[in-house]
Order: sequence, then structure tokens, then C-alpha cells
Amino acid sequence: MAEKRSYRSTPRTRRGALTPFGSRTDIGCLRDHNEDSLIVTPPLFAVADGMGGHAAGEVASEIAVHVLAEHAPEHPDGEALARAVEEANHEVMRAARDGRGREGMGTTMTAAVLEGERLVIAQVGDSRAYLMHQGKLQQLTRDHSLMADLIEAGQLTPEEARCHPQRSVITRALGSDPCMHPDMYEINVETGDRLLICSDGLSGMLCDQDIEHTMRRVQDPQRCAAQLVNEAIAAGGHDNVTVIVADVSGFAEARRRKLARKTKLFIATILVLFAAIVGGTAWGANAYLNTTAYLAAQDGKVAIYRGVPGTLLGLSFSHLERVTDVSVNDLQPGTANRLAAGIQVDTVDAAEALVREYEAEAAQKGSSEGAGEGGKATGGQDGADNGGTSDNGGGSDNAASGSSSANGSNGSASQGGAA
Ligand code: MG
Repeated sequence: MAEKRSYRSTPRTRRGALTPFGSRTDIGCLRDHNEDSLIVTPPLFAVADGMGGHAAGEVASEIAVHVLAEHAPEHPDGEALARAVEEANHEVMRAARDGRGREGMGTTMTAAVLEGERLVIAQVGDSRAYLMHQGKLQQLTRDHSLMADLIEAGQLTPEEARCHPQRSVITRALGSDPCMHPDMYEINVETGDRLLICSDGLSGMLCDQDIEHTMRRVQDPQRCAAQLVNEAIAAGGHDNVTVIVADVSGFAEARRRKLARKTKLFIATILVLFAAIVGGTAWGANAYLNTTAYLAAQDGKVAIYRGVPGTLLGLSFSHLERVTDVSVNDLQPGTANRLAAGIQVDTVDAAEALVREYEAEAAQKGSSEGAGEGGKATGGQDGADNGGTSDNGGGSDNAASGSSSANGSNGSASQGGAA
């Protein structure tokens, strides 16, 4: 192939995925190139182990994963996944015919779509899928290989197969049969389960117990994948080694994240509503305090305030509009008493109107008092004058003028006595 594509995990896909996963591929200790290819783009995970001689196996596995990535379903749809693998098979065969690879090249394919607690797997060849459930590792797929057939026939043990000279012979692969169909597995998994997909470079070097031990011991999926590859290499690394580890976060995790998103949205909505209520209340209160008014005494004068009288928690909700010329002492005692507590009115205009009434009231009171004081002064003067006149003995004119008032009458009577 002119261009070598990589389907390995990227930071973007790792952060964006619901499923925590890790992967690693290694050339091993004996091979001079790596014929394995892999896909780790959740929910799709796949391992392809190419074969066919120098360069051809690598080409076959690369073509297979490329076509699979293009055609695989976005959800666990078994039929769609099978069609994607079959399309990959046809493309590998076309590539062999048109010179992009070599005749006879082929590849295994173990492809999984994992979403929530649903897992579908398409299987061709001897790459494997395992599931660790409650700490126990179980092989999900059946190898399409001579060794698997011999083991099932009771002619070999798994340990004997691991060292058998024909251990690499596979009985089904992509690239040789246009009517090839993958084996399909559809499985319900649970949160906490762990999926393992690997090439025979791992399963051929480590027994299932060793794999299970590492899968159980290493919690982080990326570190687990790397550790499994390291152990296969430490065991000899006879083949290319490719490992994918994916933890099942399941619907519980999806529900938890969905609930967390809903909770955040609910809290944000409440905060917005609270801010709107507080803001609206503050705006309304401010508008009311700027509109309403009251009258109160200020340094002996009637003053107009905007707002409401009194304080709350030490806070005043009014400010002085103006001090009028109306003296509190010029008002009726009842009005003065009410001014001490503040006389609430609806608007400043209403307060101004009330002040005008007070001005009129004060003017009327001043006028009345002025008139009363004026009468006393006149009568007293008359009385004094009349008395003086009587004493002076010149009383007939004064007697006539004194008859106009009580004091004058008294004066007149004095005059009569004197006469
Ligand atoms: Mg291999």
C-alpha cells in the first residue's frame, strides 16, 4: 500500500469514549516486521493478523481494518458487522488480484462492537476475544485453526498445541474464499467486565491463567495491554503481539453520566431562575422605593423623603428629597405626631400636594392666632386709655368710645361711678 494508515487509539478518542480502553502492538522478538493491525475507535475494536509472506500479510491486515472501519456499524448490530467483515474479505481478495498485495495473502479478523452492556463479535481465524467476568477469564471465540480442531478432537492439549510445529495453520481467513462468513457472537456483558482481543502472539505465548492473572491485577486498561505484551515478549515473543483491553462501563456508567448532565442542567436552571427572581425583585423594589414617598420632621421642618420610613437590619430604604419651609410647630398637634412616625404617600407628587395643604393649614393657623392677638392688644390699649381718661376726669367722649368693648364698658362704668 502506498499509504500506511493507523487506527490506533488517539487521545481524542480515548477522552471521548464511554469505554476506557488501552492497546499495544509489538513486532515481537523473532519477526522482522509487524503484520498485525488493529482498530481502537470505540465502540469498534478489532485485531487482524496478516499472513502471506514478506509485506503481503501486513498489506492484507491493513486493508482489512481499513475496510472494516469504513463499513462497521456504529452500534452493536451483528448482521451489519458481519457484512463489514465480508466486505473486508472481498477487498483483500481484490487487492491480491490487482497487485496491491500478493496472491495468497490473507488475514485473521476479530472485530467487536461494544456499547453499553451489549457486545457483538465477528470472528475469522485464530485471533481471539476473551471476556473477564467477576475475575474469571473466558475465551469467547473459537479459533479457526488446525490446533483448535485437534484439541476439540481430543488429539492435543492446549499446552501441546502451543508448541506444535503446525500451530500457525488456520482453517479460515480473509482473502481466500469469496463465500467466507465470520462466526458471530452476541453477548450481554456487565459493568465491570473486561474485554480482551489479541493476536496469537499473545495467546500462543501465555496460557489463559497467566493472562487472567494480569487482567485481574492491572487495573488501568492501557497499562494492562502493555503488560500483557511485555509478558508475551518475556516468554519468547515468537510472533507479532497485539492486545486490546476494553473495560465495560455499561449502561450504569452511561446512566450515571446522563444523570450528572441532567443534574448540572437542573442546577444551572435553578440558579438562572433564582438570579432572575432576585434581579426582578431587586428591580421592582428599587422602582417602588423610587416612586413611593413619605413626609417626616427634619430639624423642625416638614421634609419629603423618597422610599419608606424605618430601617431593616441597619439598612435605610429612603433618601431625602427636600426640606420644606413648613414648620412642624405650625401644624395641628395630631399632624405633628404623625410626622414623627412618617406619613406614607404613594408618590412624591402626592407628598408635594400634602405639603401644600400643610402650608395652607399653617398659614390659616398663623392668621387665626394673629387675629386673636390683635384683638387683645386693641382692647387692652383701649382699657388703659379709658382708665387713664377716667382718672383724668375728661370722660364723656371716652365713655362713648369705651362702650364699643367690654374693656370699654368697664371703663365707662368706672367713669359713671366717678360721676
Ligand atoms: Mg500471529
